[in-house]
Amino acid sequence: MVKSISEIAQLWERILSHIQAKLSDRHIYDSFFSGSYIYRIDGDAMLIVVNSGLAANLLSTRYLDLINESVSEVTQSTFKLKFVQENDIPTINEKPVEEKSSFFSNSYVNPKYTFDNFVVGPSNLEASQAALMIASNPGKMFNPLFIYSQSGLGKTHLLHAIGNYIREHAPVLKILYITTDDFVDEFIRYVHGDKESETLKDFFKGIDVLLVDDIQFLADKTKTEEMFFHIFNALVNSDKQIVLTSDRHPSELKGLESRLVSRFGSGLAINISQPDLNTSQEILKKKIEANGLDLNRFDPEVIRFFAEKFSSNIRELEGALNRLLFYIINIKETSKITMDVALESVQSLINVSDAKTKLSETKVINTVADYYNLTPAQLIGRSRTSQIAMARHISMYLIRSLLDVPFQKIGQSFGGKDHSTVINAIEKVEKQLKSNSDFSLAVNELKKRLKN
Ligand code: ADP
Ligand code: MG
Repeated sequence: MVKSISEIAQLWERILSHIQAKLSDRHIYDSFFSGSYIYRIDGDAMLIVVNSGLAANLLSTRYLDLINESVSEVTQSTFKLKFVQENDIPTINEKPVEEKSSFFSNSYVNPKYTFDNFVVGPSNLEASQAALMIASNPGKMFNPLFIYSQSGLGKTHLLHAIGNYIREHAPVLKILYITTDDFVDEFIRYVHGDKESETLKDFFKGIDVLLVDDIQFLADKTKTEEMFFHIFNALVNSDKQIVLTSDRHPSELKGLESRLVSRFGSGLAINISQPDLNTSQEILKKKIEANGLDLNRFDPEVIRFFAEKFSSNIRELEGALNRLLFYIINIKETSKITMDVALESVQSLINVSDAKTKLSETKVINTVADYYNLTPAQLIGRSRTSQIAMARHISMYLIRSLLDVPFQKIGQSFGGKDHSTVINAIEKVEKQLKSNSDFSLAVNELKKRLKN
């Protein structure tokens, strides 16, 4: 195998000498091959830099056979050759490498969500036990584990907790956490590319533990579903662990093929219900401590008030706590957090600061919607067509970069998406900004409009 830079340079020298021997016209050789070099070898792709656009054109057409022949004589194998001018390297450099070599490059197991910081109560006891059992025996118990609940009750947290646990206890296993959105996006991008679907399947063959969040979003996407079905079967048949989450029981998933639904239900399906008051209070206490605050500063009544008011959705409970923390740090410094302070925080922040950010968030959403001929409702709604999704991602990116709004809060403005969805969306935009000049023109234009 060719490895070092100097080895690659020598390789090209040898190929050139073969080419030179075959070319009858010395001028052609001098003119078009001088200064050429191999920029990169990536698998069977060889990228060669030449001295002009004309040379790139000529070598990839008229002289391609001759060069191919020389390459295979020297290397004893075949390569897909690509010729570029030096100026064109950056664009060529970024796109194909990322698209071809790594799927789901933005996905990761979030170290923030662990079993340690997951508060267990009657509402989630079974789910957390099943998750822990799976994590300690991946592929050996029930497959898939299917966790379902309403939004904000800890499904995503448990998926990451499984991932983190396995990473710690069985580091050789390859874990992939993805949202169903990620899967759909990756599949569509992939189908639009010119590769056979075999490679995406191959990619999954290397995965030992597959964690897929919010599988209900696979509904009504026949082609994507079919691909998922094959991947699912291949993994289960080779005893790889799959964990799925959803907002409902498998039998209630609409718009999914029955063969898929029956697979989903063939392992173990477990529900998380709304936490009781005690569990909500424990969760709140844990979050307060995680924020580095002394619990003793909080009047127990405050904890109880918040837990009672927001028990149907832990994400909202956290949101309320964040508002309170913001208030006592930025607006009213106080050593004791009493009921009065808590109520003030809720009131004042809803009325003043929230109104202020709301205004600007609304402005971003209206401006982006207007630019793409969409309604604001479409932007913050659930539609997943790629055009709307892209506009939505741009809105999230602008809200974050111009207003510095926390990810979680952005998620709330877009119909209760969780913060990792927002982070993913923003990363997608950042990636596009680097590689797609039309895209960055559009984003710049939007920024300009927002400054007026
Ligand atoms: P879902 O995926 O069900 O919508 P998440 O897993 O995103 O919900 O949970 C929302 C928030 O609530 C997260 O920040 C999560 O850490 C927190 N949360 C939910 N349940 C618990 C729990 N039992 N203990 C600690 N935090 C929790
Ligand atoms: Mg979730």
